Amino acid sequence: MVRFTTVLWDVDGTLLDFAFSQRVAFMKCFRSIGLTGTEEQLVRYSQINDSMWKLHEKGEMTGDELKLERFRRLFAEYGIEGVDLNAFHQEFQEGLGNVAVPLDDSLELCKSLRGMVRQYVVSNGDVAVQTHKLQLAGFLEVMDGLFFSQEAGAPKPAKAFFDYCFLGIPEKDPGKILIVGDSLTSDIQGGIRAGISTCWYRPEGTVNDSPYRPDYEISDLHSVCDILGVFDTWQNRRDKS
Ligand SMILES: [Mg+2]
Repeated sequence: MVRFTTVLWDVDGTLLDFAFSQRVAFMKCFRSIGLTGTEEQLVRYSQINDSMWKLHEKGEMTGDELKLERFRRLFAEYGIEGVDLNAFHQEFQEGLGNVAVPLDDSLELCKSLRGMVRQYVVSNGDVAVQTHKLQLAGFLEVMDGLFFSQEAGAPKPAKAFFDYCFLGIPEKDPGKILIVGDSLTSDIQGGIRAGISTCWYRPEGTVNDSPYRPDYEISDLHSVCDILGVFDTWQNRRDKS
């Protein structure tokens, strides 16, 4: 039985290994200002970045503000002075967009689901960076469409973001749409607000200490086939190929 016709995929931390792209871009940018980035600085940057994205999700900081502010704060904490923030940020974005590593065999999974469900990307990330990463990793041909918060005018978890997506999706029954993502605050909360089903792709070692309860929880993306109700078809196809 096919339970869902449509899947909305988050990108960073779900289809693609965001931590890896971030590490490469971070270290490269530090080298280009004549410094050697440390693990501690990377961890601190990641904390600052995450907290600012949470503010962005709540509508308390714009995407443009956070892009520079996260580095301004990091450099202030470490007493690093005289860095051209715009140039640094520009290089960082390019770096992020140039490294794309699929998680859990996600590309093969999405390819094998083609024809069984419609698949869309839903991302709060920068349009140019995300599109380039998806292209590099081979997802552009696989997806039925891409939805970005920059173009929607509101980020996940806003209902407005999902309303924007629904305009471009043939499926009109919210009960047949599933969102899969690693973020409880943006993907899961957003899916709940939008009235669709939610699947939390739980990052290793994390627990759900949020008020948001996903309908499904998985630790391996392949489990999505079970949830979609297409496991048998999917396995048959895979055995034949
Ligand atoms: Mg994510």
